[in-house]
Amino acid sequence: MSTIQEQMKGKLVVSCQADPGNALENTDAIRRMARAVVDAGAKALRLNSTEHITAIRQDTDVPIIGIQKRHQNGMLRITPDFASAEALAKAGTSIIALDCTTRTWSFGEPWRQLVERIHGELHLPVMADCATLEEAVTAAEAGVDFVGTTLNGYTEDTLGNNTFNWPLLHKLARRVHIPIIAEGHISTPAEARRALDEGAWCVVVGSAITRPGVITERFLHAVEAPADNRYALGVDIGGTSIKAGIVSRQGKVSLTTQVPTQATLGRDAIAAGLSKAVEQVLALAKAKGIEPCGLGIASAGAMNSKDGSVFAATDNLPGWAGFNLREFVEKRFHLPTFVVNDAHGAVLAELHYGLGRNLTDFVAITIGTGIGGGIVSGGKLLEGQHGFAGTIGHHVIRIDGRPCNCGRKGCLEAYVSTVALLREYHERSGKAPDPSIADNAMARQISELALAGDAAAQGAYQALAGYLAEGLANIFNLLDPQAVFLSGGLVEGHQEFVDEVQERVKQLLHFGQKRAPRIQLAAQGHYAGVQGAGALVFSNQGR
Ligand SMILES: [Zn+2]
Repeated sequence: MSTIQEQMKGKLVVSCQADPGNALENTDAIRRMARAVVDAGAKALRLNSTEHITAIRQDTDVPIIGIQKRHQNGMLRITPDFASAEALAKAGTSIIALDCTTRTWSFGEPWRQLVERIHGELHLPVMADCATLEEAVTAAEAGVDFVGTTLNGYTEDTLGNNTFNWPLLHKLARRVHIPIIAEGHISTPAEARRALDEGAWCVVVGSAITRPGVITERFLHAVEAPADNRYALGVDIGGTSIKAGIVSRQGKVSLTTQVPTQATLGRDAIAAGLSKAVEQVLALAKAKGIEPCGLGIASAGAMNSKDGSVFAATDNLPGWAGFNLREFVEKRFHLPTFVVNDAHGAVLAELHYGLGRNLTDFVAITIGTGIGGGIVSGGKLLEGQHGFAGTIGHHVIRIDGRPCNCGRKGCLEAYVSTVALLREYHERSGKAPDPSIADNAMARQISELALAGDAAAQGAYQALAGYLAEGLANIFNLLDPQAVFLSGGLVEGHQEFVDEVQERVKQLLHFGQKRAPRIQLAAQGHYAGVQGAGALVFSNQGR
């Protein structure tokens, strides 16, 4: 038994974290919260990011369970690679926690390899964040120092568990012989005590102590008992996968599923995938006694919301153009169905459940391989005659500029996207592009380099900021919105970039100082399209 394990025995660990986009997601705010809980007697902390840990380490020497969350391709992974673990160790982490679920990842390194290297090179104990009994047993056998129930309720298999999983703790206590950390949905002091009595070595409490937003929602739930408890079924059809799930009137997404689009096989295969996803969610909903009141579909391509057909689609979805999506789905599932473009679906999620909730006029832009987006005006999403409204990526910011895949030259998308970032970076770093690294992986590297202070990477971001500011100044001139929200892999975590864009837009705009354009980062979840498609059902009920 190591000293650190002994030190944690029977203790309360407080997790101090805030979600991206939350008002408290700020190093100073989290640092003060950590100080407050340690002053009150918390014996250890669970913290996210080297930045927070470095700051908080200056105030206290209690054990810190450190994690590095990474959002990528809409997925969240806890401490995905050795570089993250090493940075956490340097910041003063006492125990490194990482995702040891059986999920497969498109990024990061295998967890067994990470455990080995953290032990061998960093000499730190490892906590395995697990969702199921099997995963925790496997992790214990692989030699981790603690197993945690952290991810129960957060993986596809366990989704829908919104309370602490007592049977899991009981079974774990019988099966593993290393310390078990009870974490996830522990919301009262009595539950925390019970976890220790029933076999947990120590207990982590987060939201119930350190998330005022969550606490407020719990009170609101009691005070404003929901009069409207309808549910919609939302579907998001993308080039690689079809996601679907149940969306509550309050915007909560649950009972989700995901199937491959199989786009290369053409229209019938895509439609079959769609049917399969809907059937799976309907089965999950039935088991919970939920009957959706309608079906919302967000799909890649320009959608005709009036007749429910696909007006145009790129080669990503061959044969999709001309397909009457609504007719197909209504015939099969007998539910009122509404369709929207996928980028517009994400904007609807922002409008009904996100940062746009209290606004009437805003523009939301997602930056990645290309630029997706949409415009909300007078509280309504602008679709246009054919569903093309808000195609912000294809407005020209440079006459005779770089060629764009839409056929024109000088579009915003040709200057602000993954490929554009790579180009600016290679120009500045003097390094030749490495053909063995995929564009998205390279863009992630540049993003991290920029955040770490690398001059060439920061220069590349500054160049993009200049171009994006030109585009956004046009948007502010055309629409005079209350805010522009930016999301997507390229800008996630880049507050300085957003500040720079905002400053430049202010300079470019007539009366810019007085108008004070609001440009803000938004966190778009993996199921934003599903959520927005669900919102479409609620806002169209009564058609
Ligand atoms: Zn274009």
